[in-house]
Order: sequence, then structure tokens, then C-alpha cells
Amino acid sequence: MPNPIRNLVLVLGDQLDQASNAFDEFDPGRDQIWMAEVAGESTNVWSHKARIVLFLSAMRHFCEHLDQKGYVVNYRKLDDPGNHGTLVDELEQTIKRLEPEKLVVVRPGENRVLADLKSLAKKVDVEIEVRRDNHFFCSLDEFRQHAEGRKRLRMEYFYREMRKRTGILMEKGKPVGGKWNYDTDNRKPFSKSGPEGIEPAISFEPDRITKSVIQLVNEEFADHPGELSEFDWPVTTEDAVEALEDFVAHRLPEFGKYQDAMWTDEPILNHSLLSAAMNLKLLDPRIVIAAAVASYESGRAPLSGVEGFVRQILGWREYVRGVYWLYMPEYVDRNELGAAEPLPDFYWTGETEMNCLAQAIGQTLTYGYAHHIQRLMVTGLFSLLLGVDPKQIHQWYLAVYVDAVEWVELPNTLGMSQYADGGVMASKPYIASGNYIKRMSNYCAGCKFNPTKSLGEDACPFTTLYWDFLAKHKDRLVKNNRMVFQVKNLERKDPDDLVQIRAQAKCFRESVKSTPLNS
Ligand code: FAD
Ligand code: SF4
Repeated sequence: MPNPIRNLVLVLGDQLDQASNAFDEFDPGRDQIWMAEVAGESTNVWSHKARIVLFLSAMRHFCEHLDQKGYVVNYRKLDDPGNHGTLVDELEQTIKRLEPEKLVVVRPGENRVLADLKSLAKKVDVEIEVRRDNHFFCSLDEFRQHAEGRKRLRMEYFYREMRKRTGILMEKGKPVGGKWNYDTDNRKPFSKSGPEGIEPAISFEPDRITKSVIQLVNEEFADHPGELSEFDWPVTTEDAVEALEDFVAHRLPEFGKYQDAMWTDEPILNHSLLSAAMNLKLLDPRIVIAAAVASYESGRAPLSGVEGFVRQILGWREYVRGVYWLYMPEYVDRNELGAAEPLPDFYWTGETEMNCLAQAIGQTLTYGYAHHIQRLMVTGLFSLLLGVDPKQIHQWYLAVYVDAVEWVELPNTLGMSQYADGGVMASKPYIASGNYIKRMSNYCAGCKFNPTKSLGEDACPFTTLYWDFLAKHKDRLVKNNRMVFQVKNLERKDPDDLVQIRAQAKCFRESVKSTPLNS
């Protein structure tokens, strides 16, 4: 008679943390691990092939690491005979076979998965212990306390609180350098000659495991969006640490200055490419922040850029997680602006004459990556101005980026970019005309449209839709004091022009309307 199993420790695809507290008090004599690759997690949204490869390859590498530690891992591969295709069905079979006393899991990154695991545990009558995710600086209780009694949440206040609590970039209770924010030194466009002297990012050649996963994904998910020929993402903690060192040495010094800039055929620029490694928990954000701060302290990177980078991780990343768990499950259904247009087909192909969108979507399909401003102020802005149903654009972002996990993707999409949460994430809708894209990139120079024009054949659709958006939502926007300037500009517009602009916007909407490819 085999020894009964005490704990079955569940390790999900975004929980590949060698120091995870799922392994606290792990006893290899009495406890076992469960991991499963299931098609359902790649088809619940129409996942980019690179996103699927990254998760599966990183899981297989993590399983090897656990094997080497002498832990027993019950690992189900996607192509194992009889794979049930969903996490709960696979887990149910393992529970029936092993009859563990308890399930142990660190809080998953998606509310759906947490709910499914809890209801399965209830169904099979096995206790489940959901442990706090120590990967994050801020616990959910601490975030709840931060939110309590506040009329409005604002990232800036949360971020300052986090700086004080952690002591990061702090000196005698004050921010290092005397300022919390260096935005005025940051966020510049490139000069006319474009980016210069940026070292190409380190590339991780697919190894034996990644190559076999690439083959599997090409066979099993052939019709999914995206390419695999450029796949070179880090898939282990060791790789991820190398990627961090590469960023800190070469791209961090100018990160802040050019973090909002965009350039044709330059997908990476000064960005870190570390979100996927952090979200899969291959990389600890404490290590990332410590490396960036050390670079400032040794005089290799300016405070403005390092503060800008720390703000993204200690501020935004922690903040969006807090918002997600504070407002889920109802958050996903929010649609404050009543947006109902379908997502245009070209989001899945990149085939559009709007050069900025062709660039941002094209590189997304090639690499599974676009940087923040491409997501917020190109693909996100267009969807907001067009009035796309927030759920459809949410599903697109969740599908096409290698770093997409719902806790981080949903508040960024639904809240920050689409204003569908009515101002929880952002104090105003992030709207702009084509002139913003012209200022921050060279995309417009290669486009048939003119960003300054809102009427006529060569009018930039962003600019036409921008005025249409302001006019359509004027009654709401007028109450927001951060929108005063834009509403005033609208009021100065010639009423006849505005009628024509709105008619042109209507025609444009009809012309891009089509059934999404994956419906
Ligand atoms: P860098 O520009 O080098 O920034 C450094 C790090 O800061 C990132 O690795 C990331 O961990 C963190 N960070 C920066 N901005 C944010 C933010 N707004 N929220 C949370 N973390 C942030 N990020 C994801 O990790 N997964 C997503 O699915 C995701 N979806 C997004 C959807 C939309 C509509 C928008 C506007 C943003 C989204 N972001 C998402 C945030 C941000 O765009 C990415 O984190 C960033 O582009 C990743 O590239 P990078 O690692 O090179 O980041
Ligand atoms: Fe995009 Fe308009 Fe510029 Fe073309 S002109 S690249 S559509 S912003």
C-alpha cells in the first residue's frame, strides 16, 4: 500500500517561482506536485502561438528544475494520451488517482481559475489551501486597507505609500533627489534621425525543450494568430536574470527619456522586455528593482529614468493587481461608455492602411510584444475612439501578448485604455488625435493619411474619431475637470465642420465593421 499523500501542490503556468511559498514546508516524502498543460488555457482566448510556446516551454523547464530537486511532479503534457483539455478535468483525475488529503495552491492570476479550483475541491470534497502570492510587494489585504475610505483610487498615492513602506529610492523618509516624479525629464520623442546606438536586446535561442514545444504548437494550434520564427523569449529564471542584466547595462540609462517614443520597425527601443518573465514568476520584481537602483547608485543610469522604471513595477504593476482583485468578478462586465462596436478584423492580421496600427499590430503578431505606448495610444486609443465593445478588445489583449495574464491585462485594457470602468484606473479617458502619434513617432511620415486633418479622403481616422468621441461624450466629459481643455477646443469647432466630421466618423465605422475572425 503506497503512503497516503498529504499535500498535492498545484503549480500553474504563471507560477514558476523557485522560491514560491507553495513549497513552504514541502515534504518530498509526503507531498507531491501537480502541473498540467491543457488546450483550454490556450483557446479560452485565441492565443498567439508565442504566448502558448512561452508558457509551455517555461513550464517544462520548471518541471525539470523540480525533478532535479527530487520532488515528485505529476506532469501532464498537452499531447499525452487522454489529456482532458481543461485544468479542472485534469486535476479531478489526478485527485481521484492520488487521493491527497489537501490541495495547496498560491492564488492564481485569474479569478476564473481560482473559482474553478475552489468549486472542484468542493465537488471532490478535498480541502484547498489558497496561499498568498509572495511574489508581489503588496498583499491584497494591504491594498484593501489602502483603498478603504478613499473616494477615488489614484496610482500616485499608492506608489508613494509603497516607496515609503519599502524604502526603495528613499532617504531619511524623503524621496531620493527630493521629487517623487521626473516626468518632465522623461517621455521625449526621438529626434528626426530616430533612435541611435541602442544595442539589440539579448536573444535566447530555442533549446531542445523549446524547439519541441514550437513543433507541438505549430501542429496543435496552426490556425492561431502570430508567428514563431522569431521566438527568443527567456524561459527559465537563469535566462530571465541574463535578460535583466542586459537591459540594465544597455537600455536602462535612456529608458525614462524615451519610454513613450515609437519608431517604425523598432519594436523594442529602450524597453526591458521583462514583463513576461515577471508575470510567469521566473523573475522576482525585487531583484529587478534592486538592479535598476544599483545602476543609479553607481552612476550608470540617471535618477529620472530609474525612478520612471521603478514606478512602472512598484507602482503600476502592484496597483493594477490590487484593482483587479478589489473589483473582480464584476469588473470584467463594466462598460461605462456603452461601447458596442465589433473589433475590426485587422487586429488579427495587421492589414490596414493606418500605418501606426499596421506597425503596432504587425510587430505584435511577429513577437507577441508591443510596448506600453503602442498598446495604450495606438491599438487601445483606436479601439476607444471607434467604440469597440470592451470585452472584445480585452480578449484581444489577453490573447496576443506573451506577458498577458488577466490580473494585469484586464485593468490596463478595460480601465486605463478603454475607460470602461468609469475612472477607477484613469482619472480621464486617454484620448488624443493623430497629432499625438505624429509627435511621438515617425509613423505618420509613412502613412497615406494626414494626422492634422479630420475631414476629407486623407483625413486621419484617429483625428476624425477623436472629435467624434468628444462630441458624443461631451455631457459626461464636461463634468471632468481634467477634460476642460479638450472640451473647450470642441466648443470652438465650427458646428458645420463638426456635423461633417461626425458623418465621416459614422461612414468610417461602417467601413471597418466586420465579424471578428474568431467568433
Ligand atoms: P517596460 O516598458 O520595460 O516597463 C517595465 C515593467 O514595468 C514591465 O515589464 C511591467 O512589468 C511593468 N509595467 C509597466 N507598465 C505597466 C502597467 N501599466 N501595468 C502593469 N505593469 C506595468 N502588462 C503586462 O505585463 N501584461 C499585460 O497583459 C498587459 N496588458 C496591457 C494592455 C494594455 C491595453 C495596456 C495599455 C498595457 C498593458 N500592460 C500589460 C502594461 C505594459 O504595456 C506592459 O507591462 C509593458 O509594455 C511590457 O513591456 P516591457 O517589459 O518591455 O515593459
Ligand atoms: Fe496613424 Fe493617422 Fe498617423 Fe496614419 S496619419 S500613422 S493613421 S496617426
